[in-house]
Amino acid sequence: MFNVVIFGAPGSGKGTQSERLINEYGLYHISTGEVLREHIANGTELGKIADSYISQGQLIPDNLMVDILDDLLEKNQATRDGVIFDGFPRTVPQAHALNEMLARRGSKVHAVVGLEVGEEELVKRILKRGQETGRADDNLDTVKKRLDVYHSQTSPLRDLYIAEGKYHGIDGTGSVESIFKEIKTRLDKEKND
Ligand code: AMP
Repeated sequence: MFNVVIFGAPGSGKGTQSERLINEYGLYHISTGEVLREHIANGTELGKIADSYISQGQLIPDNLMVDILDDLLEKNQATRDGVIFDGFPRTVPQAHALNEMLARRGSKVHAVVGLEVGEEELVKRILKRGQETGRADDNLDTVKKRLDVYHSQTSPLRDLYIAEGKYHGIDGTGSVESIFKEIKTRLDKEKND
């Protein structure tokens, strides 16, 4: 089992690199943003709650998010081979909850990949994605809030994972392929250690 957290600001390339990583390592992909967007598209109760936060660029409350994750880990056999966590954890309490959920299953977070991209580039990428995909929260108003939330609530996780000796900071600019190669070099080493 090999569990990887892919970490970074909105627009840093987490989804794109996750796609490559699941193919390379046969990991089960959990994107909490995707899970929530599916609920919104299906008009579920959870989707309605999620939409009220996502449209404001805010995070879904920790207890709700942790319950969703625990449920996904419980219901999907495939998660036992290893998971790439994309967009979770996003707060310090979520990181502690993830350690706890994995420990309960006899496992842990093996590595954290942090995609590091400057603010100007992030805004450019997000607005471009909004135009190309029509994703509702990829607009200028929401982007600023999402980046503020990232700086105040999510970026402290970087120090936490550095302290745990798991953090691999990767330059998230350049071609998708060169970024992927750099990630793979780090993860292969981590797997063999
Ligand atoms: P993402 O697709 O990862 O950029 O997530 C889109 C939005 O979903 C975020 O801006 C949050 O509102 C919400 N979201 C996704 N993951 C989480 C999480 N782990 N905790 C709280 N909110 C989340």
